[in-house]
Amino acid sequence: MSIGRLQDRAVELRRMFHRIPEVGFTEFITTYEIYKALEKKDFTLFIGEEAISREHRYGVPDQQAIEASRQRASEYGVPEAFLEKMADGATGLVAVFDTGRPGPHVAMRSDIDGLPIMEAEDAPHMPAADGYRSVHEGEMHACGHDGHISIGLAVAAYINENQNQLSGRFTLIFQPAEEGGRGARSVVEKGWLDDVDYFMSGHLGINEYEAGTVSAMTERFLASTKLDVSFKGKSAHSGVEPNEGKNALLAAASASLHLHSISRHRDGATRVNVGTLNAGSGRNVVADHSELKMETRGGTNALNEYMMSEARRILEASALIYDVEYETAFMGNAIVAECDEEWVDIVKTANREEANGFNIMDTMPLKASEDVTYMIDRVQKNGGLATFMIFASPLKAGHHHPSFDFDEQAIRTAVSVYASIILHLANNHTEKEYTSYE
Ligand SMILES: [Zn+2]
Repeated sequence: MSIGRLQDRAVELRRMFHRIPEVGFTEFITTYEIYKALEKKDFTLFIGEEAISREHRYGVPDQQAIEASRQRASEYGVPEAFLEKMADGATGLVAVFDTGRPGPHVAMRSDIDGLPIMEAEDAPHMPAADGYRSVHEGEMHACGHDGHISIGLAVAAYINENQNQLSGRFTLIFQPAEEGGRGARSVVEKGWLDDVDYFMSGHLGINEYEAGTVSAMTERFLASTKLDVSFKGKSAHSGVEPNEGKNALLAAASASLHLHSISRHRDGATRVNVGTLNAGSGRNVVADHSELKMETRGGTNALNEYMMSEARRILEASALIYDVEYETAFMGNAIVAECDEEWVDIVKTANREEANGFNIMDTMPLKASEDVTYMIDRVQKNGGLATFMIFASPLKAGHHHPSFDFDEQAIRTAVSVYASIILHLANNHTEKEYTSYE
C-alpha cells in the first residue's frame, strides 16, 4: 500500500473512531477496534491487562460507569472473552514487532480516550454534517485522540508492509486514559519503555499553523495534579436550628475562592482550577456534603508541588473554619519533561530524504499537561531519546470544546512524518551498535 493509501485509510479509521468515543478506562470498543485493525498483521498483541499495570492507574471510574460501558461494548459485539482481558477497565493495547535484524528499538505512543463532552449537533460541525458525530451521547473525541489512534494504526500498517526494509524492533502503544493524566504510568510500570532507543509521540492541532506544519519537539509541558475533594458536615433545619448544622457547602465555597487566590510564584508558571462544585440537598437544609474537582499545574514539578501544598493547606483550613470533615482522592498526575534535541535533526533529515515538503519547526510550546512525560522520563533514564511532536492544524474550536475539529490533512502529514522517521532510523543507526537481543 502506498503512503497515500495508508493516509486515506487513516482518515477513514479516524471517522470510525470518532463515532465511538469512550472516556478513560472504559475504552472497551476502542481497544477491540484497534485489535481488529491489527490482528492480521505480524505484530504480537498485548491486550488490556497484558498491556497495562492495573494498580498504577489513576482516577479509575466507579464500578457502575465501567459496567455500563462494558455492557455497551457487549451490545456492540465485542466478544465476552475479549472483554474479560479488560476486567475492571484495564483497557488499552500494545503491539510489538521484531524484524529479527539488529537495529534500534523504536516506540510510539497513541492515546485513545475521549472526553465527557456532548458533541455539537449543528451543521457547521463537520462530524455532524458528514454523519460521523459521536453515537455515545455525552462522550466525544474532542482532543483529536481519534486521529492519534488512526495514525498509530497507519504506522503499524507501514511497518508491516515494509518489514523487509526495516531493522530492529517496534513497540506501538495504544494508551488508555490520557485525559487527566491517568493512564501513562500504568503503561510505563509494565516495562514497555525500559529499553527503548527512540521514543516518539505527538498531538494534532494545538497551534494556529496550517496542516503540513510540524514541530519536531515540544516544550513547556506543565506538571499537574488532579484531586477530588469531599467535605462532610451535618444537616439541620435552616429555620429551626441552623446552629446545629455544620455547613459543608460554605466550606467548599470558601475553599474554592481561596484556592483561586494562591499567591503566584516568582519562579514560573502556576495554575489552579476548581472545575466543578456540587453541594447540599435542599433550600431549607444546612448542606451536609459537598464535592469539588480541582487541579493544580506548574511550569516545573517543584512549582506544581508548591501549588499543591498551598492547596492542601487551604482545604484543611476551610474545613476547620466550618468545623467539617474533608477527604481528598488523588485522580491523576503529570510531570514535566524535556524532549531530546537530537530529534530535530532526525525529523528534518528523515523528511528531507522523503522530500515531503512539510514545514518542520524545531519546537513549539504546549502550555498544557500531558502524561506522555512519564514515558519520556523513563526512556531518557535508560539512555534513549524521546520526543513529542505537534502536527499543526487550524481548529474550528479549541481542544475540549463541543465543536472541536481539526483539518484531516494533519493526519496525512503525521502518517507521512512517522513513516519517514521509521525508515530513516532503520537505515541510520551507526552511532550505536545494535547486536542481538537475548
Ligand atoms: Zn489530547
